[in-house]
Parts: sequence; C-alpha cells; structure tokens
Amino acid sequence: MNLSKKSKEILIKSDILNWYKKNKRDLPWRKASRKSLPNPYHIFVSEFMLQQTTVGTVKKRFNEFIKKWPSLDDLASKSESTILNFWSGLGYYSRARNLLKASKIIKKKHASKIPDNYNDLIILPGIGEYTAKAILGIAYNKSVMPLDANIERIFVRLYGFKSPILKIKSELKILSNSYISKKFSNQLIQGFMDFGSIICTPRNPNCIDCIIKNNCIAFKKNLQKTIPIKSKSNQLKKKKYSRAYIFYNENNEILVRRRSSKGMLASMLEIPNDRWVIDKNKLVYDKIVQNLKKKIQYKGSIEYSFSHFDLETEVFFANVKKNHFLKYKWMKKNNFKKSGLPTVMKKIIEVAI
Ligand code: SF4
Repeated sequence: MNLSKKSKEILIKSDILNWYKKNKRDLPWRKASRKSLPNPYHIFVSEFMLQQTTVGTVKKRFNEFIKKWPSLDDLASKSESTILNFWSGLGYYSRARNLLKASKIIKKKHASKIPDNYNDLIILPGIGEYTAKAILGIAYNKSVMPLDANIERIFVRLYGFKSPILKIKSELKILSNSYISKKFSNQLIQGFMDFGSIICTPRNPNCIDCIIKNNCIAFKKNLQKTIPIKSKSNQLKKKKYSRAYIFYNENNEILVRRRSSKGMLASMLEIPNDRWVIDKNKLVYDKIVQNLKKKIQYKGSIEYSFSHFDLETEVFFANVKKNHFLKYKWMKKNNFKKSGLPTVMKKIIEVAI
C-alpha cells in the first residue's frame, strides 16, 4: 500500500515514539528534573561533550564533570586551565574552552539560566544550529528537529537518498521539518537518536526488527548497507608529520611547555615537538633541540588520528640536567597519565618511557 507523504510521516513519528517508550537508553544527562524534562544545564554540558565523542565515553566523564561542577555557577567560576585539565582524554579541547566561555556569558547575561530560545543560544561560543536545537528540543520540549548523524542516516535510508550527506544537507533539513512534534518534541528527538544508535546503525542495520521498515525505501530496494554513501573527501584524510622530544632529568621528570594560544590544542601543555607539516621533508627542528641533536635517541613512532588529519610523530629521548632548562616546566614521570596533557602527548611519552 502506498501511503501519502503526510500519512507516512504521521505513522513513522508514532512508531518512533512508541519504540522510544520501551527502548530508550539510560543516559545520565536525561534524568528528569522538572515536568519530566531533564535539567537544562545537564543537557548543555552533555551536548558539548558529545560533539565528536561517543556516548559510551561521555557517560562516564559526564558524571565526573557534574560531581565537580553541579551547577552553571560552579562551572562559570572556574579557570580555563582547570577545565582543560579535566578535559584530558576527551580531545577537541576547543569544546572545553567554548563550554566555559558560554557558561560565563550565561551567568552574566541570563542570570545563570540556560537560554530557552534559539537567538540567545546560537550566539554563544561553541553552539551551532544542531546544538542549539538539541538543547531547545531535549531540555525545553520546543518544537525543533536537530539533525545529528543518527537522525540524518535514518532519513537518508527512509527516503532512499543516493548522494553523500554533505550534498543533501538542505534537502534533509526541509524533510526533517515535517517530523517536528508539537507536543512530544523531547521524546521524538531522543527516540530518533536512540533508534539510529540501536536499530538503524551505520553498519548492519537491524532491518528485521525495524518497526518502520514498511516505510523504508532503502529496505525495499536493499540499499540499507550501501547508503548513506561516503563522500570522497570523507574517505581521504590528510597526513601530517612531526618529531617530539622527551627530555628526562635526574629527578625523573619530563620537560613540558605550553602551546601557543592559537591553533590546535591551543594553550595546552605539550612535549616539545616540531611544527606539524604535510611534507615530511620540510620538518624543521624545534629551537629547543637545536644544540642537542647529537644527544637525542630515536625511540619509535606513533600515529594519532585527529578529526581532519592523522599525525605521524617520531619520538626521541635524551637524558638532560634540570639546571640546563631553567625556564621550562617539569612533570613527574609518575604523574603524566593523570595530568591534563592531551592524549596525543601522553601517547608520545608512552613510546619513549
Ligand atoms: S528498515 Fe533498516 S534501513 Fe530502513 S529505517 Fe529500518 S533499520 Fe534503517
């Protein structure tokens, strides 16, 4: 039976809402705090954490975060280095900076209440269209439809789009507007998100148990494993190169320094390393190593994956005297795993020590 466009939308919305009631994921930021809606501060924090990080990783770190800073006022009073130290292991440190900046603005301009309208949210640092809509829909039950990767994938399959998602963003947005709920926005948004994460998964979707398969073009045409197709630019990641230097002193300490306040991992602590380049032949020794080239020993290399490129780093080691590097910071070797060093720097140390 061929349903009209409107009937198809109504049926899918109602199926997803029913499915969500029985199958919703138990996530710490969803706990209801008022009128069966979650605490907006919890949604605000979780949405920053979830940008580029999996739900599994965020679950544990979210609880630690809320224990340390239970309210927006607690968070807004903290320094950037405190939040960056906490963020170690989550990556994409600009999110932590933006989360803190946004919380300070909310404290000052909105009396510490997370805004419940699009215009006030969208101008906050680190908040784009998706995050603003996720906060509005999930925390305030506003009628919106944020398009995350799970929801986009479901729509691509339901409607059988054969172009890469990047090329059909505007079509997906128009389509998703038909799926906005007036009364149950909070549940429908999270229902789609959970459905994409549990049933309509990126690889091997569980079409057999899918309650909307009768309305799914991908299922009817057996395309569910081939769409959404990836764009070529997604498949080819750039590669960059660097060399890093572990200087180890007589007190079992490792030399560290602060990165510049601009660019990748801005203002974070780092192991000294050469400027990252695309052409390996263009690597230039960092100033700190200029007079020590004969002392350094090669220890191995690591490849670390950032969102837009992979970084291959050769790691070198040298025993040095602390008093030859008076203006630098030192970190106890036994402390580096618990420190706020970015994960890539921790992996570099592991290669050498
Ligand atoms: S039938 Fe398969 S591809 Fe279609 S929505 Fe359901 S799980 Fe996704």
